[in-house]
Amino acid sequence: MVLAELGGSISRVIQRMSNATIINDNVFDECLNEIARALIQADVGIDLIRHMQANIRNIAIFDELCKMLNPGKPSFTPKRGKTSVVIIVNLQGSGKTTSCTKYAHYHQKKGWKPALVCPDTFRAGAFDQLKQNAAKTKIPFYGRSMESDPVKVAVEGVEMFKKENCDLIIVDTSGRHKQQAALFEEMRQVSEATKPDLVIFVMDSSIGQAAFDQAQAFKQSVAVGVVIVTKMDGHAKGGGTLSAVAATKSPIIFIGTREHMDEFEVFDVKPFVSRLLG
Ligand code: GDP
Repeated sequence: MVLAELGGSISRVIQRMSNATIINDNVFDECLNEIARALIQADVGIDLIRHMQANIRNIAIFDELCKMLNPGKPSFTPKRGKTSVVIIVNLQGSGKTTSCTKYAHYHQKKGWKPALVCPDTFRAGAFDQLKQNAAKTKIPFYGRSMESDPVKVAVEGVEMFKKENCDLIIVDTSGRHKQQAALFEEMRQVSEATKPDLVIFVMDSSIGQAAFDQAQAFKQSVAVGVVIVTKMDGHAKGGGTLSAVAATKSPIIFIGTREHMDEFEVFDVKPFVSRLLG
């Protein structure tokens, strides 16, 4: 078989595959076998063909996972010098407070003027933790340990930092309540009152498949726009991120790679998927 004929057969198979409504295992295997037949006729060795089939399968899986992590719509990106309000949500323990500071610090290093607001009036520890993080990184902080209304604290903080011309005002919401319904209602009220430009869903990479329901529940209360994945330094491969992206239709923007302020990386899909498969 001459090279042009071989190329023709392969492109016909690929064309057929791209026209198929559903690409399942059968369609895929049929196409791989057809390509293999064309190559055998062209005297290509069987070992080489098997190797190529395995490679094609791996590339297809890799590409599909990359696509699944791309919700296909651009997310809001804050602009330096222009005030943006960002609120950070999820349950306690997911890494919210740490990620808030990392996100602020990341921008601070690039010359932004970030500020941190703590409207968590439910857990005293949350106030102290964010205040300490803010002091360590010299980022302005607003919170009131004696105030019981989270919406009031959030609005006061946002207003104050707007007047101070901060360009990235980050509100770390509470992640715990006596009842989960009350937590979602609080998120909704904080969001309605502060009118955020961006809502970040922070997820723990080890949460696994429960990520879908959790992310969906938050998305139903507030307009989640992007995801930050924490604890990528642990054993978890981060498979739950696929669920979180699907549930929120939001892209991942950063990953947390340890506890320290600088251990925070811009999300890069290819190494992430390699790790997921590795
Ligand atoms: P919050 O309750 O959602 O605000 O969560 P915290 O920010 O307090 O984080 C919960 C725990 O996870 C803390 O001990 C953090 O130091 C830790 N943590 C947060 N992000 C990371 C990360 O990327 N890697 C590791 N190893 N630990 C993290």
